[in-house]
Amino acid sequence: MIARIVLDLPLTTVFDFAAPGLGGDAIGRLAVVPFGAGKRRAGEPTPTPTKTQIGLIVEMVETTDVPPEKLKAIIGLVPRVAAFTAADMALFGFCARYYHHPLGQIALGGLPPLLKLAPTRAEPDRAVRVSEITDAGRAALATLPSRSVAQRSMLEMLAHGPVAEVELKRRHLRATSTLAQLVKKAWVVVREEAASNIPLKHSADDGFFSPHSLNAEQQTAVQAINAAHGSFASFLLSGITGSGKTEVYLHAIHHCLLQGKQALVLVPEINLTPAFVRAVSQRFAHANVVELHSGMSNVPRLDAWLAAQRGEADILIGTRLAVFTPMPRLGLIVVDEEHDASFKQQEGFRYGARDVAVFRASNKLCPVVMGSATASLETLQNVAQKRFTQLTLTARAVAQAALPKIDFIDLNIERAPDGITSRLVEAIRDTVARGEQALVFINRRGYAPALVCAQCAWMPECTRCSARMVFHRGGGNNGGQLKCHHCAAQRRAPAACPKCGSHELVAAGSGTERVEEALEAALASSVPAVPPIRIARVDRDSTRRRGSAEKIFSAAAKGEVDVLVGTQMLAKGHDFPKLTLVGVVNADGGMFSADFRAAERLAAQLMQVAGRAGRAELPGRVLIQTRFATHPLYQAVASHDYNKFAQIALAEREHAHLPPFSFLALLRAESRNKEALADFMQQAAKDAHAMRGGEDVSVWDPVPPTLARKAGFERRQLMIQAGSRRSLQTFLATWLPMVRAQKVHAVKWVIDVDPQDV
Ligand code: ADP
Ligand code: ZN
Ligand code: ZN
Repeated sequence: MIARIVLDLPLTTVFDFAAPGLGGDAIGRLAVVPFGAGKRRAGEPTPTPTKTQIGLIVEMVETTDVPPEKLKAIIGLVPRVAAFTAADMALFGFCARYYHHPLGQIALGGLPPLLKLAPTRAEPDRAVRVSEITDAGRAALATLPSRSVAQRSMLEMLAHGPVAEVELKRRHLRATSTLAQLVKKAWVVVREEAASNIPLKHSADDGFFSPHSLNAEQQTAVQAINAAHGSFASFLLSGITGSGKTEVYLHAIHHCLLQGKQALVLVPEINLTPAFVRAVSQRFAHANVVELHSGMSNVPRLDAWLAAQRGEADILIGTRLAVFTPMPRLGLIVVDEEHDASFKQQEGFRYGARDVAVFRASNKLCPVVMGSATASLETLQNVAQKRFTQLTLTARAVAQAALPKIDFIDLNIERAPDGITSRLVEAIRDTVARGEQALVFINRRGYAPALVCAQCAWMPECTRCSARMVFHRGGGNNGGQLKCHHCAAQRRAPAACPKCGSHELVAAGSGTERVEEALEAALASSVPAVPPIRIARVDRDSTRRRGSAEKIFSAAAKGEVDVLVGTQMLAKGHDFPKLTLVGVVNADGGMFSADFRAAERLAAQLMQVAGRAGRAELPGRVLIQTRFATHPLYQAVASHDYNKFAQIALAEREHAHLPPFSFLALLRAESRNKEALADFMQQAAKDAHAMRGGEDVSVWDPVPPTLARKAGFERRQLMIQAGSRRSLQTFLATWLPMVRAQKVHAVKWVIDVDPQDV
């Protein structure tokens, strides 16, 4: 037989390998194949050693066009890994077509790294010790005295089916001795089994408990989701922070587990949502809950993936990459904070995990629940068109927790010398004096976004990017650092202007470091004097080390921090019961971006950060510093009415024929060679223009993106806009082969379908 195999390469080619001894059931298996020549020492007579790669078998056929002398044989199948199912393969295939990306990269690119470390020879399938209950054991279960707790609970577990030894150890305290006793009584037998043959099993009892009874809206939501079990349905669960969405997910997951199915939960950034992960693990005491994200070290990541793929994991919580994890018993998908930009992969294979989740649910015939307080306009449009069903939670679940009051500080009137007004400083002081906590949100890290020469207006720029260097004090024992936020460039801040020699270099604008410093100074000199106030800064710089963000958050939760100053890392998932004041500094920046989604993102971010204030019994307050308090966006935020904002924004999008009322694809190209890049883009545009004949597709001119040069590469982009997904796809299917045919090696390009940053 011939195995047709895709590899993790930027090629759409399917490779043929001889696969003696394999049959149709090898489809979906991972195989080790010889690929590419290894190093050969000069004059060495032996055959060239070969390198190996992991590939995915997509087809088994009997003949090939590859001449016999060129046909290589596969080395073996990857042990321990069962075949990807037809549903998995369909998911990869859909993504390859929809995102116009090579199948091999989609299927193999996101696998746990350890899985891809191709062994050079085939290993035998790993043997695993499996325990199975005997008939005598079943009979004993009925008569066993109740004081034999350990033996009884193990027998009960085994009564549902054979269990691997590792699993028994995970679930039972003294598993080894209990098992030995059961084996001695011949109630249980232990046998060796090839790992890939172990039958899929699941726990009958997930140990779920619910601390509250659901309110009427929550019940309605849970019932709607449960009623859809076993069929495809998309739900938008709308509700502000604290309205009890998590509770709804948990009940729906419980129902899914009761049906013997697995649940997949996607979250934006797992490190920022530890409370959520903890809640899930705690609430399902007996279920097997695993996590998956790229920040994990290799071994746990492989274990989690294998547990999901074998059907052993009941609940998988992960970031966007987890959407591709095979789950043979998948019965429910939850996408928390569905609007979050992190669900879109921004390099290489540019998929949108939320959209992939919906396809996966439709293909697996299971419900998908997307939750948000600030749903994306795409999702709201899907609701309007009745593709998604909206379930709404209108109130905060905890009765006393009222919505925070939102006020504005008018920057046209009040001064904010270091980014923060004295009115905000006073409000923070009063809050802390009452023994409560405050949060200051500023969406910019570093000390100041620019350094400016007061004499000649010179500003330091990155030599490799078309961007200003950001000024960082970072400790401040030297003169500070200049950092580029787009590449790794970093250098010491100059003491004098290199252009005119002036020593008057001024920090312009403010970032987290500056606001922290200004706040510290203002509070220290405050009248009446206040006891020392503990300020913690949370941004990418202050939390670089693993676990440090978590440390700050847990200190804040324990009340060991009075004021948190930070970026949008603060906006998500954390629940500080004493936090009653949120100050927003410098939000206006988000309103004047070239990106048509900027306002939507700003509104979502403001609603989210405002939601941090006053979660428990203490009433919350939000102060937003702005020059544009009367802008509809701010007015909608102030009245807690995201829907109002969304309706206005949707009307604008419709008028401008922008998503969700049109469908976009962006050709993104970059090169060190400006001329080659220009030629490439021109040809691509010419091909695109030549194609359109009365179609519902428009081709924009090639333009530089906002960041026209990055890390030494010139960048250009070309937008394709279509009236429907179908016409966009039809267009791309014809156009992209022409783009590919240009074969300009100096230019790197990708197609971004449904781009998020334009
Ligand atoms: P969300 O996910 O929408 O932010 P959560 O589900 O985390 O909201 O709920 C917010 C708070 O309300 C939590 O402390 C939760 O325990 C509590 N809660 C949720 N549902 C109920 C309910 N039906 N009765 C009482 N408290 C509830
Ligand atoms: Zn100067
Ligand atoms: Zn740079």
